[in-house]
Amino acid sequence: MNIIILFESDFTGHGKVKLAGRRFGYIKKVHRASPGDFLFVGLLNGQMGKGLVTKITDRFVEMEVVLDIPPPEPLPLVLVLALPRPKAVRRIIQAVTCLGVKTIYLINSWRVEKSFWSSPVLKTENVEKELILGLEQAKDTRMPEIFFKPLFKPFVLEELPLIAEKTIALTAHPKSFAPCPKDVAKPVTLVIGPEGGFIDIEIKTLEKSGFKTVSLGKRILRTETAVPVLISRLTTLR
Ligand code: SAM
Repeated sequence: MNIIILFESDFTGHGKVKLAGRRFGYIKKVHRASPGDFLFVGLLNGQMGKGLVTKITDRFVEMEVVLDIPPPEPLPLVLVLALPRPKAVRRIIQAVTCLGVKTIYLINSWRVEKSFWSSPVLKTENVEKELILGLEQAKDTRMPEIFFKPLFKPFVLEELPLIAEKTIALTAHPKSFAPCPKDVAKPVTLVIGPEGGFIDIEIKTLEKSGFKTVSLGKRILRTETAVPVLISRLTTLR
């Protein structure tokens, strides 16, 4: 936890917060904070800054906070991901949040197992938990937005061209002969396939919507590996 994320509901007065639960446990056990210590804090979707510990008991911590530092700039990349298996989706959501991705579309595709869509991992509270963990790791406060798109064709043909407008539109596909570009100067919309890969008709549909297929080479990477490799290759991390 490199930043303690604060919520409006934590405030007890102007610049004063009281935290219990997980964040308190971390501050007490890992930071071993005592009154007079400063911790790095940030308001969800707001400014970051310092929190001066004023009181710490066995159940809660109180701090006076000054929030005067803007969060890091978002990464100019929209991620469109064929829904991975539940264990992987948690890790990927957290990892891309760390990398600064702010818009994620989880989409269906022929080789996405139907049961994945009813996984508890996709419940709002569980998704938010992963997003917060990603923000805490990266020292960021801007919460990413996640959209679920269970119908491939209408999404790719009708919505995706608008989402990808004025961006470099790419589908990562190991069978492509075109190498993935490096350090592109424009925002990117990046589509990632499911565990079994996109089928040909899906690649054609994406091409129809303006998405060029690109490859990282002959090695087929797990989605968890391919996503951060593609993001760091395409963008300058900030
Ligand atoms: N057997 C599948 C195939 O051949 O497409 C492998 C799918 S891979 C586990 C999941 C996704 O990660 C792929 O659909 C693609 O988006 C991305 N990926 C993995 N390795 C890649 C590579 N070498 N080049 C481009 N994308 C890759």
